[in-house]
Formats: sequence, structure tokens, C-alpha cells
Amino acid sequence: MLRRLFVTTALPYANGPFHIGHIMEYIQADVWVRFQRMLGNEVHFMGADDAHGAPIMLAAEKAGTTPEAFIAGIAAGRKQYLDGFHISFDNWHSTHSPENAELSRGIYARLKEAGLIYTRSIEQLFDPVKGMFLADRYIKGECPNCGAKDQYGDACENCSSVYEATRLVNPYSALSGAKTELRSSEHFFFRLSDPKCVAFLREWINKPGRLQSQVSNKAKEWLNGEGDKALGDWDISRDAPYFGIEIPDAPGKYFYVWLDAPVGYFASLKQYCARKGLDFDAFVRPEKSKAQGTEMIHFIGKDIIYFHTLFWPATLEYSGYKTPDQVNVHGFINVSGEKMSKSRGTGISPLKYLELGMKPEWLRYYIAAKLSANVEDVDFNPEDFIARVNSDLIGKYVNIASRAAGFITKYFDGELLAPDGNNPTNTVVYASEESLTGDYDAREFGKAVREIMRLADLINQRWDKARPWDLAKNIADPGTKKQLHAVCSECLDAFRILTYYLAPILPETAENVAIWLGLPTPLRWSDLRRGIGRKMGPYRHLMTRVEEKQFDALLGLPAAPPAKEQKTVSDIPKMSVQSHSMADAQRTVPAPISIDDFAKVDLRVARIVKAEHVEGADKLLKLTLDIGAESRTVFAGIKSAYDPASLEGRLTVMVANLAPRKMKFGLSEGMVLAASGEAPGIFLLAPDSGAQPGMKIK
Ligand SMILES: [Zn+2]
Repeated sequence: MLRRLFVTTALPYANGPFHIGHIMEYIQADVWVRFQRMLGNEVHFMGADDAHGAPIMLAAEKAGTTPEAFIAGIAAGRKQYLDGFHISFDNWHSTHSPENAELSRGIYARLKEAGLIYTRSIEQLFDPVKGMFLADRYIKGECPNCGAKDQYGDACENCSSVYEATRLVNPYSALSGAKTELRSSEHFFFRLSDPKCVAFLREWINKPGRLQSQVSNKAKEWLNGEGDKALGDWDISRDAPYFGIEIPDAPGKYFYVWLDAPVGYFASLKQYCARKGLDFDAFVRPEKSKAQGTEMIHFIGKDIIYFHTLFWPATLEYSGYKTPDQVNVHGFINVSGEKMSKSRGTGISPLKYLELGMKPEWLRYYIAAKLSANVEDVDFNPEDFIARVNSDLIGKYVNIASRAAGFITKYFDGELLAPDGNNPTNTVVYASEESLTGDYDAREFGKAVREIMRLADLINQRWDKARPWDLAKNIADPGTKKQLHAVCSECLDAFRILTYYLAPILPETAENVAIWLGLPTPLRWSDLRRGIGRKMGPYRHLMTRVEEKQFDALLGLPAAPPAKEQKTVSDIPKMSVQSHSMADAQRTVPAPISIDDFAKVDLRVARIVKAEHVEGADKLLKLTLDIGAESRTVFAGIKSAYDPASLEGRLTVMVANLAPRKMKFGLSEGMVLAASGEAPGIFLLAPDSGAQPGMKIK
């Protein structure tokens, strides 16, 4: 029976761009989602920004803008990451949305009706200058235990003792420096400790298949805590000023960001359902979802188990909604050599990864190979990454295709023999279908990858044993020729099966293989045994190898530009075509423009009169260009590709009417055109011989 799945990843906090941990979670969920789609299941994959709370309000203030403008800026930057790593969300929304305000207030009203909301006055430190109550991280003072100065409101870095902020000696606001005052304020609480909530949760966490055992054990520990570990009620309100959703009939009181954050899953789904004409209630109301067999599935990190296994199901249960069917928890990602990267202030920036032309599928494959269904941390190790991509993915999997395709093209004009479904190699490769689908469904991606590489080894052994290169020497003999044709066709068919197996992890490569081999698209598991097309298209290289120097650049090791200048360079995407998100530029086809739009760009043939290194710039060359009537200075990000001396005297193409741009190194008066793709390399454009400096290009 086909499944209807509503799948989410944790909502990222909208105070900054994605880091590698976000991307790992998205890859995990995306591999699972793509696998479910290949099975023919109906998947609705939702994401959103978590956009409320004091940190965002303060970050916006610091940036001199409004919280709304601040989160809009963050949201606008999301797409390049999601597209860049092939993350196939069906919708991306925000908790700062009308849907979320309405849903959150509705949930609150039902909880109130159920007698699970109460108010109580609490004492907190108040910043009289900022006019706001302060969270622990905004309070500093002397440690009540050892007397160390300038310690934060929750713990001492000197003696490691943990305390309430109100116990700090001489507390002051880390925001304004003002001496804080102890003031009381009425807060709203959700009665999580209510016996009916506890009874419900005890049963909920024990449902087989809902939580990993490590996770349900952790949840049980919290539920069964005693003394100062006893399950507490949950403070769900914050006082103005706050960036969030106002509580109905309670002026100046807002929902604490964690109340409305998970509701953002529903808000995104609701917006999407409205657009798609789907019944929202079928996914979120218990009776309807039961009748229609919909499932609610969350992917989250181990740091937010408490919210997703206690508060979230309890608030849903008592507000008339269905509760999650699965909460899939993963560990953190640790970058090995962390000491090194910490001391250099670098980590792995996902955007830099893409900007360096590193393939998104390398990372998808590496992460998948390291993931299991357990809550384990993933160690990101560059050497391991290079070995797995180059030796396994390219050396084993891609290798099968490149070896066999050469012979098929050379001797058989691209014609393939119909695969014999009973040939021994493919029988073995087909035999793993059931275990692999089981592994994908159970999120045992590492296990699946190991099995696929075992099969790739077998196919390569089959190839080596047949010695096709020797058969090719005897090609004049019809029997030998037929033998060569058979082994190449058989290995390519086995490669085709592996492509199905890897498609959830390598969606772009799978698509390219499908086009090349004439497979039905999109790839569906039900087509697995349909065999290969009769004729293949011309073979194009499927994947490049990762180079060590790319990692050096990614980790900010000496070969790469220092972080400060990196910022300057990524700040000048207008300098040349290759700059910003390369992967993006290749995949998206921009909207059409009119001839008038095109005519606005003044393109001229330019002679590079002089090309020089720029003191302190690791990517830029300073070019002096002759465009006939005048000479221009342009800074171009092409240093990695060209020796300045080799450029002098060359003709190229420049945009002559680009507004001059003041840069750290001087004024840039236009830009030169260059091409680049996902593979390394930058290629300057050149007109045919005979063109003269200043000629207009149209
Ligand atoms: Zn201390």
C-alpha cells in the first residue's frame, strides 16, 4: 500500500545562514524523501524558518534594521543552499506568517479550554535601560560560588558551577551594561506535569517505530524524574519587547519562541496545501489522518529531543491535533582536526563548498555513507571524504560505466544487447533489492552504501575476469566480438541497477544516467527490472574527482584566500560570470529577457594591455583594457586560472557600461566575461581573430 507522508526537518533559526549541521540534516531527510518518492509514495516535504525570539530582535537592532527585514534577508539566502545541495523541499515558509499566528493561537486556546494553561508571577532580572527582561545569556555578574567576574547568568566558566541568574553577585546587562533590577512579571505556563499529560506521553513514547530506543529512553528519564529533576511545567510566555506572536487577551505578552516554532511545520504545510488544493486537515487531524492513512514524520537533531518528544506531542494531543508518527533523531557533525579549524576560526562553510566548485553529490554520498539509524555523531574527515568519493564512488561505481561505454561506442555504435535477466552478475545485483529498500526505509544509509559498493566490486571483478581489452584485440572474430558486446552490455545493465540503488543519494547523476541510457524518468523503483534501453547516447563524464587542494581551500589552509578577503571577493559577483553560486547558475534557466533588455548591456571587444598581480588579493588580477577610444581598469577574479603574463596582448570581451565599483584595491570600471562550471577552471571569453578593440558585440 502506498503511503502519504508529511515530512519535516527542524526549523533553522533565522539569525544566520545555514551551517554544515543543517545541511547534514537536510541531506539525511532528503535521501529518505527521495527514496519514498521512488517507491511511488506521496511525499510532502516541508521546511520553514524559525523567525521569532529575542535573539532575532536584538540581531536586527544591531544590524540597524527591523526584525521583519532581518529575517527576510536570511530567508532570501536559503535557496542557494537548498538548490545547491539538491534538497527537494516542496515548500519553505516562516514562523513569522499569518498561518503560524492563527495556528499557534488556536492551539493555545484549546489548551486553555483543557485546563492546561495557568499564570504565575515570577521574578527575573530586568534591564532598565533596554526596558526588557533578560534571558540568562544576556546577564553577567560575579559567580556566586568562586567570585569570578563577568560570568554569564547560567554557569561559571571558571569553576563550572551552575546557578540561577538571580544568584549572580552585582549582576548587569550584557546588552547595555546597566545594573539589572529584580522585577516580577506574570507568565503563562503549560501544565506539562499534569497527570493526564504524563500518562499520555508515557504511552506515546512507547509506541514501536515512533522513537529510536536511545530517544525513548531519554524521554522516559525526563518523564520519571524526581526531586529537582522532576518534570516541570513549561513557561510559554515572554514580556514585550519581544519579536513573536502576541497572546490573545494578554496585552504585552508574547508566546515564547519555542511554542510557535514547531507549529511552523503546520504553517508551512497549510500554506502549501492552500496552493496545491490539498486537504490540510487530512494531515493534522486525528480522525481524517487515520481515514486517509497520512503520516507525520520529523527529522531533528539530538539537541531538541525534549521539545519534540514532550512539549510538542502533548500540546498537539490536547489541542485536537494528531501527534507525530516518527521523530527521527540524528547526532551532530564533528569536523575532524577541529582543533586546527577552531584555532583558525574556520569550519566547513556549505556555501564556500559550493563556491569552490565542489560537487554537492560528493557531500551527499559522504554523509549518507556515515549515517545510520542511531543517534550517533558523524565525524567529518577530509581524508576519509576524498577516499570515499574518489576510490568508491568514482573508482568503483562510475568506473563501470566509463569502461564499458568506450567499447560500446567504438565497436557497436552505441547499440546495447538486451540484457539477459538471468546472467549471473545481474542476478546477484538484483538480489540486494529487498535488503536495500529496507535499509533506506530504516535510514540505514551507511549500510546501504556498503552493500552497493560490494556489488560494484563484484561487477568490476566480472569485468576484469572477462578481459574485454583482450577481446577487443580479436574484434575481427565474430564470436569474440559478440562476447565483448555481451560483457559490456551486461556490465552497463548492472551499472543501471546500481544507479537506481544510488538515486536517492545522487539525484543529479541518476538523472544524467537515465538520459544517457534512455531510462524512464523520473526513476521509479517499479521500473527497476525493465532493463536497459537498446541504444545509449554519447557517454559524457558523469562525475569529477575531488582534489585535495579543494579541501585546503575549503578549510582555509594556506593555499586559500584569508577569510577577510574571501568576503570581499564573494561580495563582487558582478566582476565576472563565475563568481557566485556556480552550481546554481548551471541548473537554473533564467527568465527570458527582451532584445531591449539585452541591448542595455554594452559589450565591447577589449585588448588586455596589461595584467598585474594585486598586492594582498588572492583571487584578483588587475587588468588594463584597451577598448578603442579609451582605456579601462578592471579587477577580475581570474587569478587562479591565469598567469598575468599570458594575458597581455589577448583580446577578450568586457561589459563597458557597468557602473564603476569602488573596491578595496581601487576603482573597477567594468567587467570581463568568463565561463565556469561545477568542475574547477575559469575560461576567459575571446572573439575570433580579426576583431578590433572597441568593436560592439550584439
Ligand atoms: Zn565560579
